[in-house]
Amino acid sequence: MDFPEDVPPELAGAVLTIDLDAVAENWRRLCRTLGAPCASVVKADAYGLGLGPVGRALAGAGCDTFFVALPEEGLRLRRILPQPEVRVFVLTGAPEGAEGLYAAHRLIPVLNTLEQAAQWLANAPAGAPHALHVDTGMTRLGLPVEDLAALPAGLDPCLVMSHLACSDEPAHPLNAAQLAAFTAVRARFPGTEASLANSSGVFLGPDYGFDLGRPGLALYGGNPTPGAPNPMCQVVSLQAKILQVRRVDTPRTVGYGATYRAAEGRLLATVAAGYADGLHRVLGNAGSGLLGDRVVPMVGRVSMDLIVFDVSAAPADLARPGQSITLIGRGHDADALGAEAGTVSYEILTSLGRRYARRYLGHQNTGGV
Ligand SMILES: *Cc1c(COP(=O)(O)O)cnc(C)c1O
Repeated sequence: MDFPEDVPPELAGAVLTIDLDAVAENWRRLCRTLGAPCASVVKADAYGLGLGPVGRALAGAGCDTFFVALPEEGLRLRRILPQPEVRVFVLTGAPEGAEGLYAAHRLIPVLNTLEQAAQWLANAPAGAPHALHVDTGMTRLGLPVEDLAALPAGLDPCLVMSHLACSDEPAHPLNAAQLAAFTAVRARFPGTEASLANSSGVFLGPDYGFDLGRPGLALYGGNPTPGAPNPMCQVVSLQAKILQVRRVDTPRTVGYGATYRAAEGRLLATVAAGYADGLHRVLGNAGSGLLGDRVVPMVGRVSMDLIVFDVSAAPADLARPGQSITLIGRGHDADALGAEAGTVSYEILTSLGRRYARRYLGHQNTGGV
């Protein structure tokens, strides 16, 4: 007897749908808002959404500059996007000994320290492009401003960049301080392309534009303006199938640890997704989903493969096995699920599990890698 190569999506417990046309539209919107071209930050497998399909969709929309975190991500992206005009920057620099590999695959290291700069100059082929990250207040990666004077002669970055720590809080004084510091840094590199704004930075105003934006989350539909309506298109939808529905006859507890007591008459639905799929256990008794347009609360603990919802408020025809509860989607996006989990949509997206059936909408160029 033959086993199927790929399990048909209708057999999956949950379906993750990613709208690639929405990703492309978000990229265009970010460029318009910034008033400058935007790169795409596609680290961590394009924030969990799939480097291949997302990278190809963005390149198809006209994006020619990408940022990844790690060398292996850069090599993977280069295989996906071999076009000569596509630039791939690696935010963590280049490990010693990798200089030849970077040059061969046209990966551009973002140099973060004097040591990295000296090592790149010593080992990389002459003229191999490199970028420089100057720390203006994040205190994470990047060259301290005081070290600028000690940069080795011969360093000639094609891009100078810095990263904002508080861009999602427009009134935070660190934004203006970092802008002033970066403006001064930039003046030391006349004619060099400069980049400061991440997703939320794009919305801080034209001063933050410089030559190149570096959004990540907003491409994927996360709200770059928390507290205000989301200006981005919805990209991600996650639907988990209802496996079982039961009416509570007498009051009883739900799930491991008996942490929830369901009253008589409540209608409970168990869906096929759990913490093994990236739905954090902290969502137990705290998260919610949508059944039709009704908000349905998670009750009891999240288990590895299962979550129970109280669907008493939902229309009877939807509260049935085979129907699906929306965990991420219009009306309950990744920011909302993140808030329920005490985290941010960044962590929700990058935790998306490997068991979902993935459906890509739009830009149908998803073969390979
Ligand atoms: C991750 C990252 C970005 C993108 O940030 P978003 O908030 O997702 O837009 C930009 N620049 C650097 C240096 C980063 O590490």
